Amino acid sequence: MTHTDENSDPVLDEVLSSVLRRNPGEPEFHQAVREVLESLGRVIAKHPRYANNALIERICEPERQIIFRVPWVNDKNQVEINRGFRVQFNSALGPYKGGIRFHPSVNLGIIKFLGFEQIFKNALTGMPIGGGKGGSDFDPRGRSDAEIMRFCQSFMLELHRHLGEYTDVPAGDIGVGGREIGYMFGQYKRLTNRYEAGVLTGKGLVYGGSLARKEATGFGAVYFVDRMLTSRGDSIEGKTAVVSGSGNVAIYTIEKLQSFGGKIIACSDSNGYIVDEDGIDLALVKEIKEVRRQRISEYARLKGGRSHYVEGGSIWNVPCQIAMPSATQNELTGKDAKTLIENGVIAVGEGANMPSTPEAVRLFQQAGVLFAPGKAANAGGVATSALEMQQNASRDSWSFEQTEARLAEIMRNIHDRCATTADEYGAPGDYVLGANIAGFVRVAEAMDAMGVI
Ligand code: NDP
Repeated sequence: MTHTDENSDPVLDEVLSSVLRRNPGEPEFHQAVREVLESLGRVIAKHPRYANNALIERICEPERQIIFRVPWVNDKNQVEINRGFRVQFNSALGPYKGGIRFHPSVNLGIIKFLGFEQIFKNALTGMPIGGGKGGSDFDPRGRSDAEIMRFCQSFMLELHRHLGEYTDVPAGDIGVGGREIGYMFGQYKRLTNRYEAGVLTGKGLVYGGSLARKEATGFGAVYFVDRMLTSRGDSIEGKTAVVSGSGNVAIYTIEKLQSFGGKIIACSDSNGYIVDEDGIDLALVKEIKEVRRQRISEYARLKGGRSHYVEGGSIWNVPCQIAMPSATQNELTGKDAKTLIENGVIAVGEGANMPSTPEAVRLFQQAGVLFAPGKAANAGGVATSALEMQQNASRDSWSFEQTEARLAEIMRNIHDRCATTADEYGAPGDYVLGANIAGFVRVAEAMDAMGVI
Protein backbone atom coordinates (compact mmCIF):
# COMPACT_ATOMS: atom_id res chain seq x y z
CA MET A 1 0.00 0.00 0.00
CA THR A 2 1.11 3.58 -0.65
CA HIS A 3 -0.39 4.99 2.54
CA THR A 4 1.46 6.59 5.42
CA ASP A 5 2.70 4.43 8.30
CA GLU A 6 -0.15 5.51 10.57
CA ASN A 7 -2.64 4.04 8.13
CA SER A 8 -0.67 0.86 7.58
CA ASP A 9 -1.33 -2.57 9.07
CA PRO A 10 -0.17 -6.05 8.01
CA VAL A 11 -3.77 -7.36 8.15
CA LEU A 12 -4.85 -4.68 5.67
CA ASP A 13 -1.93 -5.48 3.37
CA GLU A 14 -2.96 -9.13 3.38
CA VAL A 15 -6.60 -8.28 2.67
CA LEU A 16 -5.61 -6.06 -0.24
CA SER A 17 -3.33 -8.71 -1.77
CA SER A 18 -6.11 -11.25 -1.47
CA VAL A 19 -8.64 -8.89 -3.12
CA LEU A 20 -6.23 -8.21 -5.99
CA ARG A 21 -5.53 -11.92 -6.46
CA ARG A 22 -9.14 -13.09 -6.26
CA ASN A 23 -10.66 -10.38 -8.46
CA PRO A 24 -8.37 -10.15 -11.50
CA GLY A 25 -9.06 -7.61 -14.23
CA GLU A 26 -11.24 -5.34 -12.07
CA PRO A 27 -9.15 -2.15 -11.68
CA GLU A 28 -12.01 0.09 -10.50
CA PHE A 29 -12.92 -2.41 -7.77
CA HIS A 30 -9.27 -2.61 -6.70
CA GLN A 31 -9.10 1.19 -6.59
CA ALA A 32 -12.21 1.49 -4.40
CA VAL A 33 -11.04 -1.21 -1.97
CA ARG A 34 -7.51 0.21 -1.77
CA GLU A 35 -8.87 3.66 -0.95
CA VAL A 36 -10.97 2.38 1.94
CA LEU A 37 -8.27 0.06 3.31
CA GLU A 38 -5.76 2.93 3.22
CA SER A 39 -7.94 4.70 5.79
CA LEU A 40 -8.30 1.81 8.23
CA GLY A 41 -4.85 1.46 9.84
CA ARG A 42 -5.71 3.97 12.54
CA VAL A 43 -8.99 2.16 13.27
CA ILE A 44 -7.28 -1.16 13.77
CA ALA A 45 -4.67 0.44 16.00
CA LYS A 46 -7.50 1.76 18.19
CA HIS A 47 -9.86 -1.25 17.92
CA PRO A 48 -7.74 -4.35 17.23
CA ARG A 49 -10.82 -6.61 17.33
CA TYR A 50 -11.80 -5.37 13.87
CA ALA A 51 -8.78 -7.29 12.57
CA ASN A 52 -10.23 -10.57 13.91
CA ASN A 53 -12.44 -13.19 12.27
CA ALA A 54 -11.55 -12.05 8.75
CA LEU A 55 -14.04 -9.22 9.28
CA ILE A 56 -12.41 -6.84 6.80
CA GLU A 57 -11.91 -9.60 4.24
CA ARG A 58 -15.60 -10.49 4.54
CA ILE A 59 -16.58 -6.85 3.93
CA CYS A 60 -14.58 -6.96 0.68
CA GLU A 61 -16.39 -10.07 -0.55
CA PRO A 62 -19.90 -9.54 -1.97
CA GLU A 63 -22.61 -11.62 -0.32
CA ARG A 64 -24.00 -12.50 -3.75
CA GLN A 65 -23.17 -11.70 -7.40
CA ILE A 66 -25.80 -12.27 -10.05
CA ILE A 67 -24.98 -12.17 -13.78
CA PHE A 68 -27.67 -12.85 -16.36
CA ARG A 69 -28.55 -12.75 -20.04
CA VAL A 70 -30.89 -10.00 -21.24
CA PRO A 71 -32.31 -10.85 -24.68
CA TRP A 72 -34.62 -8.29 -26.28
CA VAL A 73 -36.00 -7.32 -29.69
CA ASN A 74 -35.08 -3.97 -31.27
CA ASP A 75 -37.24 -1.84 -33.57
CA LYS A 76 -35.86 -3.63 -36.63
CA ASN A 77 -37.16 -6.91 -35.23
CA GLN A 78 -33.62 -8.10 -34.53
CA VAL A 79 -32.68 -9.87 -31.32
CA GLU A 80 -30.02 -8.15 -29.22
CA ILE A 81 -28.27 -9.60 -26.18
CA ASN A 82 -26.93 -7.67 -23.22
CA ARG A 83 -25.53 -8.74 -19.90
CA GLY A 84 -27.26 -7.86 -16.62
CA PHE A 85 -25.63 -7.64 -13.18
CA ARG A 86 -26.71 -7.25 -9.59
CA VAL A 87 -24.11 -7.35 -6.85
CA GLN A 88 -25.70 -7.73 -3.41
CA PHE A 89 -22.69 -6.64 -1.45
CA ASN A 90 -23.60 -6.25 2.19
CA SER A 91 -26.88 -6.50 4.11
CA ALA A 92 -25.62 -6.04 7.67
CA LEU A 93 -27.49 -2.75 8.09
CA GLY A 94 -30.59 -3.39 6.00
CA PRO A 95 -31.83 -4.56 2.60
CA TYR A 96 -29.35 -4.11 -0.27
CA LYS A 97 -29.77 -0.62 -1.69
CA GLY A 98 -28.08 0.97 -4.68
CA GLY A 99 -28.75 2.08 -8.23
CA ILE A 100 -28.88 0.41 -11.61
CA ARG A 101 -26.57 1.71 -14.35
CA PHE A 102 -27.14 1.28 -18.09
CA HIS A 103 -23.93 2.17 -19.94
CA PRO A 104 -21.78 0.28 -22.46
CA SER A 105 -18.80 0.43 -20.06
CA VAL A 106 -20.61 -1.64 -17.40
CA ASN A 107 -18.91 -4.88 -16.37
CA LEU A 108 -18.69 -6.88 -13.16
CA GLY A 109 -15.72 -4.88 -11.81
CA ILE A 110 -17.53 -1.55 -12.26
CA ILE A 111 -20.62 -2.85 -10.49
CA LYS A 112 -18.48 -4.26 -7.67
CA PHE A 113 -16.68 -0.93 -7.18
CA LEU A 114 -20.00 0.88 -7.05
CA GLY A 115 -21.53 -1.70 -4.70
CA PHE A 116 -18.51 -1.54 -2.39
CA GLU A 117 -18.67 2.28 -2.20
CA GLN A 118 -22.39 2.02 -1.58
CA ILE A 119 -21.92 -0.01 1.63
CA PHE A 120 -20.06 2.81 3.36
CA LYS A 121 -22.14 5.59 1.82
CA ASN A 122 -25.35 3.98 3.05
CA ALA A 123 -23.84 3.43 6.48
CA LEU A 124 -22.90 7.13 6.63
CA THR A 125 -26.51 8.19 6.12
CA GLY A 126 -27.34 6.57 9.47
CA MET A 127 -30.30 4.82 7.83
CA PRO A 128 -31.09 1.07 7.82
CA ILE A 129 -29.87 0.20 4.32
CA GLY A 130 -27.25 -2.26 3.10
CA GLY A 131 -25.15 -1.88 -0.05
CA GLY A 132 -25.69 -3.19 -3.58
CA LYS A 133 -25.48 -2.10 -7.19
CA GLY A 134 -26.59 -3.37 -10.57
CA GLY A 135 -26.74 -2.58 -14.23
CA SER A 136 -26.16 -3.65 -17.77
CA ASP A 137 -23.83 -2.97 -20.69
CA PHE A 138 -26.92 -1.81 -22.61
CA ASP A 139 -26.42 1.61 -24.24
CA PRO A 140 -29.66 3.61 -24.04
CA ARG A 141 -28.39 6.42 -26.25
CA GLY A 142 -30.22 6.67 -29.57
CA ARG A 143 -32.78 4.01 -28.59
CA SER A 144 -36.49 4.59 -29.08
CA ASP A 145 -38.89 4.66 -26.12
CA ALA A 146 -40.27 1.28 -27.20
CA GLU A 147 -36.77 -0.24 -27.25
CA ILE A 148 -36.00 1.15 -23.80
CA MET A 149 -39.24 -0.35 -22.50
CA ARG A 150 -38.62 -3.78 -24.00
CA PHE A 151 -35.08 -3.79 -22.64
CA CYS A 152 -36.25 -2.78 -19.12
CA GLN A 153 -38.95 -5.47 -19.19
CA SER A 154 -36.51 -8.19 -20.18
CA PHE A 155 -33.98 -6.98 -17.58
CA MET A 156 -36.64 -7.14 -14.85
CA LEU A 157 -37.89 -10.54 -16.02
CA GLU A 158 -34.73 -12.01 -14.53
CA LEU A 159 -33.91 -9.47 -11.83
CA HIS A 160 -37.32 -9.54 -10.12
CA ARG A 161 -36.66 -12.87 -8.41
CA HIS A 162 -33.75 -11.31 -6.50
CA LEU A 163 -35.59 -8.16 -5.31
CA GLY A 164 -38.10 -7.28 -2.61
CA GLU A 165 -38.74 -4.38 -0.28
CA TYR A 166 -37.04 -6.30 2.55
CA THR A 167 -34.42 -7.89 0.30
CA ASP A 168 -33.00 -5.57 -2.35
CA VAL A 169 -34.25 -2.16 -3.45
CA PRO A 170 -32.65 -0.69 -6.61
CA ALA A 171 -32.85 2.92 -7.84
CA GLY A 172 -31.47 4.84 -10.85
CA ASP A 173 -27.90 5.70 -11.82
CA ILE A 174 -26.23 6.58 -15.15
CA GLY A 175 -28.69 5.89 -17.98
CA VAL A 176 -31.52 5.03 -15.60
CA GLY A 177 -33.95 7.80 -14.66
CA GLY A 178 -37.68 8.11 -14.03
CA ARG A 179 -38.69 6.61 -17.37
CA GLU A 180 -36.65 3.42 -16.89
CA ILE A 181 -37.70 3.01 -13.24
CA GLY A 182 -41.34 3.26 -14.41
CA TYR A 183 -40.90 0.47 -16.97
CA MET A 184 -39.08 -1.72 -14.44
CA PHE A 185 -41.64 -1.11 -11.70
CA GLY A 186 -44.51 -1.93 -14.09
CA GLN A 187 -42.87 -5.22 -15.05
CA TYR A 188 -42.08 -6.13 -11.43
CA LYS A 189 -45.69 -5.50 -10.43
CA ARG A 190 -46.96 -7.64 -13.29
CA LEU A 191 -44.58 -10.52 -12.59
CA THR A 192 -45.22 -10.65 -8.85
CA ASN A 193 -48.87 -9.58 -8.80
CA ARG A 194 -48.00 -7.34 -5.86
CA TYR A 195 -48.11 -3.57 -5.52
CA GLU A 196 -44.86 -3.48 -3.59
CA ALA A 197 -44.13 0.23 -3.82
CA GLY A 198 -40.97 0.03 -1.71
CA VAL A 199 -39.16 -2.34 -4.10
CA LEU A 200 -37.72 0.43 -6.28
CA THR A 201 -36.99 4.08 -5.55
CA GLY A 202 -36.88 7.09 -7.83
CA LYS A 203 -40.44 6.27 -8.88
CA GLY A 204 -42.81 8.74 -10.53
CA LEU A 205 -44.83 10.90 -8.17
CA VAL A 206 -48.17 9.41 -9.18
CA TYR A 207 -47.19 5.85 -8.23
CA GLY A 208 -45.29 6.12 -4.96
CA GLY A 209 -42.31 8.34 -5.73
CA SER A 210 -41.02 10.95 -3.31
CA LEU A 211 -40.86 14.65 -3.93
CA ALA A 212 -37.26 15.87 -3.93
CA ARG A 213 -35.80 12.42 -4.83
CA LYS A 214 -34.93 13.58 -8.35
CA GLU A 215 -33.13 16.62 -6.97
CA ALA A 216 -31.63 14.90 -3.93
CA THR A 217 -28.15 13.82 -5.06
CA GLY A 218 -27.23 17.18 -6.59
CA PHE A 219 -28.89 19.23 -3.84
CA GLY A 220 -27.24 17.07 -1.18
CA ALA A 221 -23.78 17.45 -2.71
CA VAL A 222 -24.17 21.23 -2.63
CA TYR A 223 -25.36 21.15 1.00
CA PHE A 224 -22.19 19.23 1.82
CA VAL A 225 -19.93 21.70 0.01
CA ASP A 226 -21.75 24.61 1.65
CA ARG A 227 -21.15 23.09 5.08
CA MET A 228 -17.45 22.56 4.33
CA LEU A 229 -17.12 26.20 3.30
CA THR A 230 -19.13 27.65 6.18
CA SER A 231 -17.10 25.59 8.64
CA ARG A 232 -14.13 27.64 7.34
CA GLY A 233 -16.05 30.92 7.54
CA ASP A 234 -16.59 31.02 3.76
CA SER A 235 -19.60 30.43 1.48
CA ILE A 236 -20.74 29.55 -2.06
CA GLU A 237 -22.09 33.06 -2.61
CA GLY A 238 -20.34 34.82 -5.49
CA LYS A 239 -18.03 31.89 -6.34
CA THR A 240 -17.55 30.57 -9.87
CA ALA A 241 -18.21 26.87 -10.29
CA VAL A 242 -17.77 24.14 -12.88
CA VAL A 243 -19.96 21.03 -12.84
CA SER A 244 -19.14 18.10 -15.13
CA GLY A 245 -21.93 16.05 -16.71
CA SER A 246 -25.40 17.27 -17.58
CA GLY A 247 -27.46 14.38 -16.26
CA ASN A 248 -29.54 14.02 -13.13
CA VAL A 249 -26.80 14.80 -10.61
CA ALA A 250 -25.23 17.65 -12.59
CA ILE A 251 -28.51 19.44 -13.31
CA TYR A 252 -29.62 19.59 -9.68
CA THR A 253 -26.11 20.43 -8.51
CA ILE A 254 -26.22 23.45 -10.80
CA GLU A 255 -29.70 24.38 -9.56
CA LYS A 256 -28.71 24.36 -5.89
CA LEU A 257 -25.37 26.09 -6.48
CA GLN A 258 -27.27 28.86 -8.25
CA SER A 259 -29.73 29.17 -5.37
CA PHE A 260 -26.76 29.58 -2.99
CA GLY A 261 -25.49 32.45 -5.17
CA GLY A 262 -22.82 30.56 -7.13
CA LYS A 263 -22.08 31.31 -10.78
CA ILE A 264 -21.82 28.10 -12.83
CA ILE A 265 -19.94 28.66 -16.04
CA ALA A 266 -19.47 25.17 -17.52
CA CYS A 267 -21.02 21.72 -17.79
CA SER A 268 -20.51 18.75 -20.14
CA ASP A 269 -21.53 15.41 -21.58
CA SER A 270 -19.40 12.58 -22.89
CA ASN A 271 -18.75 14.42 -26.19
CA GLY A 272 -17.54 17.78 -24.89
CA TYR A 273 -18.28 20.76 -22.67
CA ILE A 274 -19.91 24.17 -22.89
CA VAL A 275 -18.71 27.38 -21.29
CA ASP A 276 -21.04 30.31 -20.71
CA GLU A 277 -19.33 33.37 -19.23
CA ASP A 278 -22.76 34.82 -18.36
CA GLY A 279 -23.55 31.80 -16.19
CA ILE A 280 -25.32 28.64 -17.33
CA ASP A 281 -28.98 29.02 -18.31
CA LEU A 282 -30.29 25.97 -16.46
CA ALA A 283 -33.75 26.05 -18.03
CA LEU A 284 -32.09 25.62 -21.41
CA VAL A 285 -29.91 22.73 -20.18
CA LYS A 286 -33.02 21.02 -18.78
CA GLU A 287 -34.88 21.50 -22.03
CA ILE A 288 -31.99 20.01 -24.05
CA LYS A 289 -31.26 17.11 -21.69
CA GLU A 290 -34.52 16.23 -19.95
CA VAL A 291 -37.00 16.99 -22.72
CA ARG A 292 -35.27 16.78 -26.10
CA ARG A 293 -32.59 14.27 -24.95
CA GLN A 294 -29.98 15.98 -27.17
CA ARG A 295 -26.23 16.60 -26.88
CA ILE A 296 -24.92 19.48 -24.74
CA SER A 297 -23.38 21.08 -27.87
CA GLU A 298 -26.92 22.26 -28.69
CA TYR A 299 -26.61 24.72 -25.80
CA ALA A 300 -24.05 26.95 -27.53
CA ARG A 301 -26.00 26.79 -30.80
CA LEU A 302 -29.29 27.82 -29.16
CA LYS A 303 -27.93 30.26 -26.57
CA GLY A 304 -25.21 32.06 -28.54
CA GLY A 305 -23.95 35.16 -26.66
CA ARG A 306 -20.83 34.53 -24.60
CA SER A 307 -21.26 30.76 -24.70
CA HIS A 308 -19.21 28.27 -26.68
CA TYR A 309 -18.80 24.53 -27.07
CA VAL A 310 -15.52 22.62 -26.84
CA GLU A 311 -15.50 19.16 -28.45
CA GLY A 312 -13.53 16.64 -26.35
CA GLY A 313 -10.88 18.18 -24.08
CA SER A 314 -11.12 18.52 -20.32
CA ILE A 315 -13.76 20.66 -18.63
CA TRP A 316 -11.29 21.05 -15.73
CA ASN A 317 -9.26 23.49 -17.83
CA VAL A 318 -12.02 26.04 -17.17
CA PRO A 319 -10.87 28.16 -14.18
CA CYS A 320 -13.21 27.99 -11.16
CA GLN A 321 -13.28 28.20 -7.38
CA ILE A 322 -15.65 25.27 -6.84
CA ALA A 323 -15.42 22.07 -8.91
CA MET A 324 -18.12 19.42 -8.75
CA PRO A 325 -17.36 16.34 -10.88
CA SER A 326 -20.80 14.80 -11.50
CA ALA A 327 -20.43 12.54 -14.55
CA THR A 328 -18.49 9.32 -14.01
CA GLN A 329 -15.55 7.50 -12.39
CA ASN A 330 -11.95 8.67 -12.94
CA GLU A 331 -13.02 11.70 -15.00
CA LEU A 332 -10.73 14.05 -13.04
CA THR A 333 -7.05 13.08 -13.29
CA GLY A 334 -3.89 14.23 -11.52
CA LYS A 335 -3.20 16.55 -14.44
CA ASP A 336 -6.69 18.06 -14.13
CA ALA A 337 -6.20 18.49 -10.37
CA LYS A 338 -2.93 20.39 -10.98
CA THR A 339 -4.69 22.70 -13.43
CA LEU A 340 -7.59 23.31 -11.04
CA ILE A 341 -5.18 24.08 -8.18
CA GLU A 342 -3.13 26.46 -10.35
CA ASN A 343 -6.39 28.19 -11.30
CA GLY A 344 -7.32 28.73 -7.64
CA VAL A 345 -9.91 26.05 -6.83
CA ILE A 346 -10.84 26.09 -3.13
CA ALA A 347 -13.40 23.27 -2.87
CA VAL A 348 -14.12 20.04 -4.74
CA GLY A 349 -17.34 18.12 -4.12
CA GLU A 350 -17.79 14.74 -5.80
CA GLY A 351 -21.34 14.32 -7.10
CA ALA A 352 -20.32 11.24 -9.10
CA ASN A 353 -18.89 8.04 -7.64
CA MET A 354 -15.06 8.03 -7.51
CA PRO A 355 -14.68 10.71 -10.22
CA SER A 356 -11.23 11.82 -8.99
CA THR A 357 -8.27 9.50 -9.49
CA PRO A 358 -6.21 8.69 -6.36
CA GLU A 359 -3.47 11.05 -7.59
CA ALA A 360 -6.00 13.88 -7.97
CA VAL A 361 -7.30 13.32 -4.44
CA ARG A 362 -3.76 13.37 -3.05
CA LEU A 363 -2.94 16.61 -4.87
CA PHE A 364 -6.10 18.36 -3.65
CA GLN A 365 -5.44 17.34 -0.08
CA GLN A 366 -1.77 18.33 -0.22
CA ALA A 367 -2.76 21.75 -1.60
CA GLY A 368 -5.26 22.28 1.24
CA VAL A 369 -8.26 22.26 -1.10
CA LEU A 370 -11.47 21.27 0.72
CA PHE A 371 -12.24 17.84 -0.74
CA ALA A 372 -15.58 16.03 -0.30
CA PRO A 373 -15.43 12.36 -1.41
CA GLY A 374 -18.40 10.96 -3.32
CA LYS A 375 -19.40 8.42 -0.72
CA ALA A 376 -20.18 11.30 1.64
CA ALA A 377 -21.05 14.15 -0.71
CA ASN A 378 -23.44 12.25 -3.00
CA ALA A 379 -25.16 10.26 -0.25
CA GLY A 380 -28.21 12.54 -0.38
CA GLY A 381 -29.64 10.50 -3.26
CA VAL A 382 -29.72 7.20 -1.44
CA ALA A 383 -30.77 8.90 1.80
CA THR A 384 -33.81 10.37 0.05
CA SER A 385 -34.47 6.95 -1.49
CA ALA A 386 -34.64 5.66 2.08
CA LEU A 387 -37.12 8.47 2.82
CA GLU A 388 -39.13 7.30 -0.20
CA MET A 389 -39.16 3.78 1.32
CA GLN A 390 -40.39 5.25 4.61
CA GLN A 391 -43.22 7.05 2.83
CA ASN A 392 -44.14 3.87 0.93
CA ALA A 393 -44.17 1.80 4.13
CA SER A 394 -46.44 4.27 5.91
CA ARG A 395 -48.65 4.90 2.82
CA ASP A 396 -47.80 8.57 3.15
CA SER A 397 -46.34 11.29 0.98
CA TRP A 398 -44.49 14.27 2.32
CA SER A 399 -44.25 17.77 0.90
CA PHE A 400 -41.21 18.91 -1.05
CA GLU A 401 -40.22 21.25 1.79
CA GLN A 402 -40.48 18.54 4.43
CA THR A 403 -38.44 16.07 2.38
CA GLU A 404 -35.80 18.63 1.47
CA ALA A 405 -35.51 19.71 5.09
CA ARG A 406 -34.80 16.07 6.05
CA LEU A 407 -32.23 15.87 3.25
CA ALA A 408 -30.50 19.04 4.44
CA GLU A 409 -30.36 17.70 7.99
CA ILE A 410 -28.99 14.33 6.83
CA MET A 411 -26.25 16.04 4.79
CA ARG A 412 -25.33 18.24 7.75
CA ASN A 413 -25.04 15.14 9.92
CA ILE A 414 -22.94 13.28 7.33
CA HIS A 415 -20.61 16.26 7.02
CA ASP A 416 -20.25 16.58 10.78
CA ARG A 417 -19.78 12.82 11.27
CA CYS A 418 -16.95 12.84 8.71
CA ALA A 419 -15.35 15.93 10.24
CA THR A 420 -15.49 14.72 13.86
CA THR A 421 -14.28 11.23 12.89
CA ALA A 422 -11.31 12.78 11.06
CA ASP A 423 -10.55 14.86 14.19
CA GLU A 424 -10.91 11.84 16.46
CA TYR A 425 -8.44 9.83 14.37
CA GLY A 426 -5.88 12.63 14.21
CA ALA A 427 -6.48 13.86 10.64
CA PRO A 428 -8.50 17.10 10.92
CA GLY A 429 -10.02 18.25 7.63
CA ASP A 430 -9.49 14.86 5.94
CA TYR A 431 -13.03 14.05 4.78
CA VAL A 432 -11.83 10.96 2.89
CA LEU A 433 -10.48 9.37 6.04
CA GLY A 434 -13.48 10.57 8.08
CA ALA A 435 -16.02 9.12 5.62
CA ASN A 436 -14.24 5.79 5.24
CA ILE A 437 -13.79 5.28 8.97
CA ALA A 438 -17.25 6.44 10.04
CA GLY A 439 -18.92 4.23 7.40
CA PHE A 440 -16.69 1.25 8.13
CA VAL A 441 -17.20 1.32 11.91
CA ARG A 442 -20.98 1.17 11.60
CA VAL A 443 -20.89 -1.81 9.23
CA ALA A 444 -18.14 -3.57 11.21
CA GLU A 445 -20.07 -3.21 14.49
CA ALA A 446 -23.20 -4.74 12.96
CA MET A 447 -21.30 -7.59 11.32
CA ASP A 448 -19.35 -8.32 14.48
CA ALA A 449 -22.58 -8.56 16.49
CA MET A 450 -24.07 -11.03 14.01
CA GLY A 451 -21.30 -13.64 14.22
CA VAL A 452 -19.51 -15.10 11.22
CA ILE A 453 -21.82 -14.14 8.38
P1 NDP B 1 -27.05 10.46 -15.87
O1 NDP B 1 -27.10 9.31 -16.81
O2 NDP B 1 -28.29 11.21 -15.58
O3 NDP B 1 -25.96 11.51 -16.35
C1 NDP B 1 -24.62 11.15 -16.54
C2 NDP B 1 -23.89 12.33 -17.14
O4 NDP B 1 -22.49 12.04 -17.16
C3 NDP B 1 -24.28 12.58 -18.58
O5 NDP B 1 -24.12 13.95 -18.88
C4 NDP B 1 -23.27 11.73 -19.37
O6 NDP B 1 -23.03 12.18 -20.69
C5 NDP B 1 -22.03 11.94 -18.51
N1 NDP B 1 -21.17 10.74 -18.64
C6 NDP B 1 -21.52 9.46 -18.39
N2 NDP B 1 -20.51 8.63 -18.65
C7 NDP B 1 -19.51 9.41 -19.09
C8 NDP B 1 -18.20 9.14 -19.52
N3 NDP B 1 -17.71 7.89 -19.58
N4 NDP B 1 -17.43 10.20 -19.88
C9 NDP B 1 -17.91 11.46 -19.82
N5 NDP B 1 -19.16 11.78 -19.43
C10 NDP B 1 -19.94 10.77 -19.07
O7 NDP B 1 -26.41 9.87 -14.52
P2 NDP B 1 -26.43 10.49 -13.04
O8 NDP B 1 -26.41 11.97 -13.11
O9 NDP B 1 -27.49 9.80 -12.29
O10 NDP B 1 -25.05 9.94 -12.46
C11 NDP B 1 -23.82 10.69 -12.54
C12 NDP B 1 -22.87 10.17 -11.48
O11 NDP B 1 -23.44 10.35 -10.18
C13 NDP B 1 -22.50 8.70 -11.58
O12 NDP B 1 -21.17 8.52 -11.14
C14 NDP B 1 -23.45 8.06 -10.57
O13 NDP B 1 -22.96 6.82 -10.09
C15 NDP B 1 -23.44 9.12 -9.48
N6 NDP B 1 -24.55 9.08 -8.54
C16 NDP B 1 -25.85 9.18 -8.98
C17 NDP B 1 -26.88 9.17 -8.07
C18 NDP B 1 -28.30 9.40 -8.49
O14 NDP B 1 -29.15 9.57 -7.60
N7 NDP B 1 -28.63 9.44 -9.77
C19 NDP B 1 -26.64 8.98 -6.63
C20 NDP B 1 -25.24 8.98 -6.28
C21 NDP B 1 -24.26 9.00 -7.21
P3 NDP B 1 -23.70 11.38 -21.93
O15 NDP B 1 -25.14 11.75 -21.91
O16 NDP B 1 -22.96 11.89 -23.10
O17 NDP B 1 -23.46 9.92 -21.68
